[in-house]
Amino acid sequence: MPENKPTIAIVGGGISGVVLAIALIRRGLGVQVYEQAHAFGEIGAGVAFSPNAIRSMQACSPDIYDAFERVVTHNQWPSKKNIWFDFQDGYAKDSKVGEEKLLFSLENDYGANSVHRADFLAEIVKLVPEGVTHFKKHLDTIEQPTGEGKVTLRFHDGTTAEADAVIGCDGIKARTRAWMLGDEHPGAAPVYTHKYAYRGLIPMDRAVEALGDDNAKNGKMHLGKNGHILTFPVQHGEVMNVVAFKTNDNDWPDPTRMTLPAKKEQACEDFKDFGPTIRKIIDMLDSDLDCWAIFDTGDHPMPAYNKGRVCVIGDAAHATSPHHGAGAGICIEDAAVMADLLADPSVHKAGIKGFEAAFQAFSDCRKERTQWLVQSSRRTGDLYEWRADGVGEDAEKIHQECKERNDRIWNAQVDVMVKEAKQSLATILKV
Ligand code: FAD
Repeated sequence: MPENKPTIAIVGGGISGVVLAIALIRRGLGVQVYEQAHAFGEIGAGVAFSPNAIRSMQACSPDIYDAFERVVTHNQWPSKKNIWFDFQDGYAKDSKVGEEKLLFSLENDYGANSVHRADFLAEIVKLVPEGVTHFKKHLDTIEQPTGEGKVTLRFHDGTTAEADAVIGCDGIKARTRAWMLGDEHPGAAPVYTHKYAYRGLIPMDRAVEALGDDNAKNGKMHLGKNGHILTFPVQHGEVMNVVAFKTNDNDWPDPTRMTLPAKKEQACEDFKDFGPTIRKIIDMLDSDLDCWAIFDTGDHPMPAYNKGRVCVIGDAAHATSPHHGAGAGICIEDAAVMADLLADPSVHKAGIKGFEAAFQAFSDCRKERTQWLVQSSRRTGDLYEWRADGVGEDAEKIHQECKERNDRIWNAQVDVMVKEAKQSLATILKV
């Protein structure tokens, strides 16, 4: 790397950090990634990508999109190619297993696009050149000079690193967010949404045998009272992914841990009042499970995503509950916008002020959409569980509201977002 090439430090090597690193490297920028774990890693569960996310992958770098294409799984029936999810009544006791009433379907031009998280991450990390990532680097704090000079990152192992700008991609419990807001700020830590989820992966042949071909091989959202289950195929249709959500008023037992071990009996108890298809799905889960608390940043959204030459993107900036299936997708939108801002020649001409302006433009342009998503996802979780004010169990109203909310997510165009962000950058830099 030439001596004078500015360096951007990325804290965190999850989907946001890795995608952003690749997008910046493809634009010729100098990047170093600091990840606390000893290696890249994701959990063994599915994640679905919406149309805006797919367009954003292409905008970040065509090879990210190609990597996604290698591992993506769609609904298995050709007739369901454009269906995102079929929404079914998972609560009716009088239905038979695999014969729930279809309430409505939501569809778009891309249909359902899910990947096994670990497979997707494994594909995209191949695109990060050697020497860029530093593992076992847990960021403790940041020192930012008021004028010229590098920003210093201090790690838990006592080492430091310097960069011209820092981007926090360190997820829902981000140190960078806490550093920006102050540890005592109510927005520094995420909040529990009173929903939790059991997750599981079931071999497809078992799922087909138990639930029938359609239920097992295509995306299904099983709605019910104070709980809902979604299932969709992953690993090219070899496996059915299950996420079973439940809501109650209790506090999460251990706020320092977002995942706690659970037994299948607990899940059976939680879903005992649901219909037979849901009870069958729960019955197929392993006897030892992980129970995931659903946290978000919705109570205290960040007033700004930037502070000088430090900025946050992805869950570090706006962690959302997963009910839109769009949290990771919006991270990729963030990365696409950030990469094009930082690659703008005006940023480099302006030196330090250029990074500050790019981060300001990013924050100004991304706040509204990303913070709306967090609130809309909360509302959507309640719509699925017949808890939403003014809607309750009314399937037609649930359909209409879900469609409107998803259209707002799916139809957004990343090139328009980039254009707006660059206009904002030009205004800030007065060029
Ligand atoms: P993370 O994936 O959390 O990555 C953060 C990285 O930073 C990690 O590697 C971590 O080790 C590292 N790190 C943390 N702290 C430090 C530190 N101090 N120093 C150095 N490194 C650090 N989204 C979708 O789009 N579709 C879905 O279907 C979907 N389903 C979901 C289901 C559930 C149950 C949940 C909880 C979320 C779901 N999401 C979904 C949301 C999605 O998972 C997240 O939005 C996305 O993974 C966030 O990526 P990230 O890279 O910003 O953060």
